[in-house]
Amino acid sequence: MGFRDQPRHSGIFLDFDGTISDIAPTPGGAVLHPRAAEILPRLARHYPLCILSGRRAADVASLVGLPRIHYVGVHGMEWLEGDEPRLDPEVLPYLPALDRARAEIREVLPGLPGVNLEDKVASLTLHFREAPRSEEQAVRLAEGLALRLGLRARRGRRSVEIRPPVEIDKGTVIIRLARGWKLRRALFAGDDLTDVDGFRGLRYLMREGGFEGVAVAVLSGETPVELEAVADLTVQGPEGLIDLLTGLLLD
Ligand SMILES: [Mg+2]
Repeated sequence: MGFRDQPRHSGIFLDFDGTISDIAPTPGGAVLHPRAAEILPRLARHYPLCILSGRRAADVASLVGLPRIHYVGVHGMEWLEGDEPRLDPEVLPYLPALDRARAEIREVLPGLPGVNLEDKVASLTLHFREAPRSEEQAVRLAEGLALRLGLRARRGRRSVEIRPPVEIDKGTVIIRLARGWKLRRALFAGDDLTDVDGFRGLRYLMREGGFEGVAVAVLSGETPVELEAVADLTVQGPEGLIDLLTGLLLD
């Protein structure tokens, strides 16, 4: 038995940036890959389909712009109910600390040219893709704030994120949804460090038994070795992933 035999019990979980979109110089420049726009609605007719991003849930929903897809944002800390964003209740006690971090970042940001702040409410991401020379300062700033305010700093690709110290990540989301949707198997594809959490979620479900997980690393010139090392399959960029997903189409 496989995905195509039991589509209702076979989940497809996908990261967005670098996975079903090509990496853009700025977060605002990313667009859904045109071939993904063609096949995702066809997959969503048969398979439970979730886009699981570090972006805000409404942001990734508007970038993908397709119905019948479950959108989860900020690495699992936010999701959409209808069009309304909902924060995980575990995050709420940390909002005042995030407010303080946001205010301090805004004060020092003019001294870090080319570094952009992406405010995701439940977390704050400093992007330095366009300012590699500011990387060290941006990371030091994030780590300092996190330590002082009881938050956590986490590296991503050309970015660093300040987030609450709660055990919510792409893996815990996959575990929760796989149970809720009564999945017997799931595929998760991602390209970055936070996607390793998703792979870990699949492994956890497999250890429980009766579950088949497929961890797909989407490779680029910037793939973290940690991701590739723990993947079941690797594909070359969004094109390679879309080729793989095309094999799951039922009509
Ligand atoms: Mg990504």
